[in-house]
Amino acid sequence: MFKVTIDGKTIEVQEGTTVLDAAKMLDIPIPTLCHHPKLTPFGGCRLCIVEIKGIPRPVTSCTTPVSDGMEVTTSNPYIEDLRKTVLELILSDHPNDCMVCEKAGDCTLQELAYFYGIRENRFEGERRIYTKRDGNPFIERDLEKCIMCGRCVKVCDEVEGVGAIDFGYRGFSSKICTPFGKDLNCEFCGQCVAVCPTGALTGKMWKQKGRQKDIKEIETTCPYCGCGCSLTLHVRRNEVIKITSREDTLNEGWLCVKGRFSYSFINSPDRLTKPLIRIAPKDQSNPPLPPFVKGGRGGINNSLLVTRYSSLFREASWDEAVDYIAKRLKTLKDKYGPDAIAGLSSARCTNEENYLFQKFMRAGIGTNNIDHCARY
Ligand code: SF4
Ligand code: SF4
Ligand code: SF4
Repeated sequence: MFKVTIDGKTIEVQEGTTVLDAAKMLDIPIPTLCHHPKLTPFGGCRLCIVEIKGIPRPVTSCTTPVSDGMEVTTSNPYIEDLRKTVLELILSDHPNDCMVCEKAGDCTLQELAYFYGIRENRFEGERRIYTKRDGNPFIERDLEKCIMCGRCVKVCDEVEGVGAIDFGYRGFSSKICTPFGKDLNCEFCGQCVAVCPTGALTGKMWKQKGRQKDIKEIETTCPYCGCGCSLTLHVRRNEVIKITSREDTLNEGWLCVKGRFSYSFINSPDRLTKPLIRIAPKDQSNPPLPPFVKGGRGGINNSLLVTRYSSLFREASWDEAVDYIAKRLKTLKDKYGPDAIAGLSSARCTNEENYLFQKFMRAGIGTNNIDHCARY
């Protein structure tokens, strides 16, 4: 163990701990932009500089491991002045777009500019202008807002193992590139969006849907597969407008394309919201089957279905539907035995719901005829 003193507070930490992490353990805040606790340190943004006794120049705390007896100062007028200059330099090549930016209110760069009181910029010069927009279906890439922190590149490589993007070109022309400068074509997991500290990467589906302050956050479980990742639904006026995941969950905040972006079905007018009971064939006037019965996509909502196929289905309450199912299952079981019945469950259910379903089939009905559509 190494003993290190930061801003007059002493702590014992394991060898290899960085100064930034040791400061975090002491609850001493150090501003960062490129650092992410789940990614390897980069030391790119230079905001986390600190002074270490005996070292002539400030060093980046995210890449400096502690040594025994080290004495660190995280904040003094000199350090804060340097940090402010770093921020001013970043902002000198950044569109002042906060009023219309999707990330406003949830942007680390905006927050730091606020705390350092940067209103006007001393540095004026050439600006990077990128007119081409990426045509991919999910992720808005606004490279003018990119501060080259590299988080997206690292998460795509180190967490997702895809490597769909990387730094390209040199000096002022540097930018985050896709292969051959084409539209992003990858897994679309959105991890890069989740770790981007600015509005350079946002979800296309979120555009102008609502500000963070208007959003109610609801924790839930992803309905798509048995991994059961934790989701945070961002709900505005009873509509899910965005999905994220918290870092302190089992899935550590990482999601796949379905969990992160495939939520429009929630508010789809095609969704069945009430049980429908099929009318016995003898009572039907034999109309054509609706598309979903034939195996095609439904494309019709509850009321449309009932209006158009009123001789096939009728709307029922949940109590009536459940009673009806119970009665029919009992009749079939008594007449043909439990193995005449089979149950098909769904990948959209949670692990717990699927567990209950198999329990119901095995213990309630008495059959092992159970299957499950493994993927959505
Ligand atoms: S990325 Fe942040 S600082 Fe830049 S325009 Fe958007 S909200 Fe403002
Ligand atoms: S969406 Fe996922 S796979 Fe695509 S660039 Fe971002 S992190 Fe990489
Ligand atoms: S796109 Fe976002 S995460 Fe990637 S380098 Fe730019 S600012 Fe950083």
